[in-house]
Amino acid sequence: MDKMIRAIADNAQLRCFAVNSTETVEYARNAHNTSPVVTAALGRLMTGAAMMGTMLGEESELLTLQITGDGDVRGLVVTADGEGNVKGYAKNPKAICPASVAGKLDVGRIIGRGSLTVIKDMGLADPYNSTIELVSGEIGDDLANYFATSEQVPSGVGLGVLMNKDNTVRVAGGFIIQLMPFASEECISKLETNLSRITSVTSLLDQMNDPEEMLRFILQDTDVEITDTKNIRFKCNCSRNRVEKALISMGKLQLEELIDKNEPVELNCQFCNTDYEFSPQEIREIIRAL
Ligand code: ZN
Repeated sequence: MDKMIRAIADNAQLRCFAVNSTETVEYARNAHNTSPVVTAALGRLMTGAAMMGTMLGEESELLTLQITGDGDVRGLVVTADGEGNVKGYAKNPKAICPASVAGKLDVGRIIGRGSLTVIKDMGLADPYNSTIELVSGEIGDDLANYFATSEQVPSGVGLGVLMNKDNTVRVAGGFIIQLMPFASEECISKLETNLSRITSVTSLLDQMNDPEEMLRFILQDTDVEITDTKNIRFKCNCSRNRVEKALISMGKLQLEELIDKNEPVELNCQFCNTDYEFSPQEIREIIRAL
C-alpha cells in the first residue's frame, strides 16, 4: 500500500510531506487507460493533491486541483481528502507528444499554457478558490508557485512518475517541504543547498521508494521528526445509488427523452471511468416514483 508521511525538521522550522504513490497512480493509469505522458501528468497532480489533502484541517474537507491548458491533454481534475483518498482524470487521456530534449515524458508540453485552480471545500457556503497562471505546466513548479503566491508559504515541491517499458507505473511519489514563517536564514540556505542537489525526482524515487528514507536523504544533516504516517489510495465515492440520484435530478421530461429509443442508458463516472447501466424499465420506475 502507498504510504505518506508528515514531518517537522530543522527545529520545526520546516514542515514536510513525502509520499510513495506508485499503486495509486498505477490504478489511475489502468482505470483511464492513459498514455505514458498523461499518466505522468495525472500522477504528479494526484501525488501533490494527496499531500495537500492532509494539509486541510478536518478529514471531511475536500481539496480539488484543476488544470486547464492549451496542450493536447486539455485539462486535469484531481480531488483528495484528509484521509488519503485521491481520485482524478484527464480530459484527453490518450494525448501523446514527442519526448523532451532530455528524452523525458514532456508533461509541460502536453499541458501547455493555462491555469491552476485550487479549491478547498470546507463544507462552508463559499469554498476557498484560487486560480493562478501555470509557470511551466510541469506541475511541481506550479504547485510551488501556488504556495508562494496564494498562501505566502515558500515551498520546495518535487513530484515524479517513472514508467516501465510496458507503460505501467514503475514508481511514483514526491515531497513538499515548506518554510515556517520563523525559519532562519541558515535554515533557508541549507534547504536550498539540499534541494539543489536533486537533479531528478524520478531517479531519486527509483533509488528509494520509502518516503521516510527519501525525506531523510533530501534533508541530510538535518533533524527530522516524523509526526504522522498514512496510507493513500485511489478511491472514488461514486455508486449506483449516487448515479440514480443524479438521474432523478434530471426531471421527468429529460428522463423520458433518455428512453425514447427504448435502449439501456449508460452513465459514466469520469473520475474512475466506471459505467453504470440502467434499463428502460429501471428508468420508467424512477419516473413513476417522481
Ligand atoms: Zn467513480
